[in-house]
Amino acid sequence: MSRAIAGPEIERLIQLLAKLPGLGPRSARRAALHLVKKREQLLGPLTEAMTVARERIVVCRSCGNIDTSDPCGLCRDPRRDDGLIVVVADIADLWALERSGAVAGRYHVLGGVLSALDGVRPEHLTLDALVARASDPAVKEVILALNATVDGQTTAHFVTDLLAHLPVKVTKLAHGVPVGGELDYLDDGTLAAAIRQRTGF
Ligand code: ZN
Repeated sequence: MSRAIAGPEIERLIQLLAKLPGLGPRSARRAALHLVKKREQLLGPLTEAMTVARERIVVCRSCGNIDTSDPCGLCRDPRRDDGLIVVVADIADLWALERSGAVAGRYHVLGGVLSALDGVRPEHLTLDALVARASDPAVKEVILALNATVDGQTTAHFVTDLLAHLPVKVTKLAHGVPVGGELDYLDDGTLAAAIRQRTGF
């Protein structure tokens, strides 16, 4: 326990900031100082943005994304393909895929992956909702965009079995050489997966 240097109010700000992912006590202290120094430019707008986040952000009941509306903007976007559902574990994964600009379909956030170690069982995930959505005749393909970890792949197999009775194509992300990647630096598992999943030239 580090000794409190600032007053209790500022210490409280520092302690709250230190709970954010990626911020330890030292960077939380620097962030708090920066916020207080930039009260007009940063602290005021941040407080307003956080109030909006607290009062208006909701979870989309269709896909599990967060937005200020339910259904969310992605679910309401008429330019997106209703025939494609991309399944992700978390909202962070959805955002990562959106940044890539490669998905023109809809999403489904599972809320995690199956994990014996962490006690995550099928009933903890939004699997029933996924089956219901994939049962819509408009849906042609479900892409499982899950992590290439043991739990991610276990979940992918589980979901594939759940959807097996439906007339939808179930696909998963390719594993292989990253764009700009050098073979010499790849781990053995990635390199082996890249060889197994080679494509025609
Ligand atoms: Zn949505």
